[in-house]
Amino acid sequence: MIYLNGQYMPIEEAKIPVLDRGFIFGDGVYEVIPVYSRLAFRLDEHLKRLQHSLDGIRLANPHSVDEWTAIICGVIAKNEGEDQSLYLHITRGAAKRDHAFPNPPVPPTVFVMSNPLSPPPASLLTTGISAITAEDNRWLRCDIKAISLLPNVLLRQMAIDAGCAETLLIRDHAFLTEGAASNIFVVKQGVLLAPPKDHLMLPGITYDVMLEIARANDIPFEVRKISVAEVFDADELLLTSSTREVLAITKLDGKPVGTASPGTMFQRMHALYQEFKHNVMRAK
Ligand code: PMP
Repeated sequence: MIYLNGQYMPIEEAKIPVLDRGFIFGDGVYEVIPVYSRLAFRLDEHLKRLQHSLDGIRLANPHSVDEWTAIICGVIAKNEGEDQSLYLHITRGAAKRDHAFPNPPVPPTVFVMSNPLSPPPASLLTTGISAITAEDNRWLRCDIKAISLLPNVLLRQMAIDAGCAETLLIRDHAFLTEGAASNIFVVKQGVLLAPPKDHLMLPGITYDVMLEIARANDIPFEVRKISVAEVFDADELLLTSSTREVLAITKLDGKPVGTASPGTMFQRMHALYQEFKHNVMRAK
């Protein structure tokens, strides 16, 4: 069951006009919210990031926090599975095709669906994943969670074509930004290094959790620009996202990362993340 513009319905019955600006221009924003034990994880933070994205594209938020909470709880309740992955999508609505915003504005399209959420398979935790690097050729507002994901799609497909799971993005041939659909951490001599949250990367909710966990457990970390040389010289590379949680990248551009198997920082952060999930996310 999905939610579309005020109504719940089976996804097969959901229809939007072909002139929807999401379809025509990719003119919209989205969120992905993990749900554990039927509770939306970090809902406030996700709704704050959604507001930031809406502000970034100058689209009024169609709902208050309470309204969003009711919609989200409705979709969770109407779908199976204790753990779910919720997808929220808001576009500037349907109007005659014109790049400029519809004037007067038209009602936005609001769509929410649920997908099953399962943690990465255990085999990936023991082997880690392979990744490639590519030049980050996206726009300069990567902090907006925009539905126009064509560069991310092409960058991710490059990894798949190379038999890898993710593409690490390098901006200006100089420094690491993030993955095609993930945030990336570098580990060097026991220190967790994180690229700064700026306009060149999506501020991941899992990224924030990682830094909170590091702070709470006296794990040394630094938030700063990470050079491409540091990426290739890393002891460990970690990938995070709401759906993939924390994974070790053990091969980069065909070469081993560190010892070529998930390292001690990964083991520690993964264990702490699971503990956090169990104690904090599932609490209440
Ligand atoms: N960066 C990009 C480009 C993403 O698409 C995502 C989400 N898949 C992330 C980072 C990670 O964000 P989060 O931890 O909120 O899932």
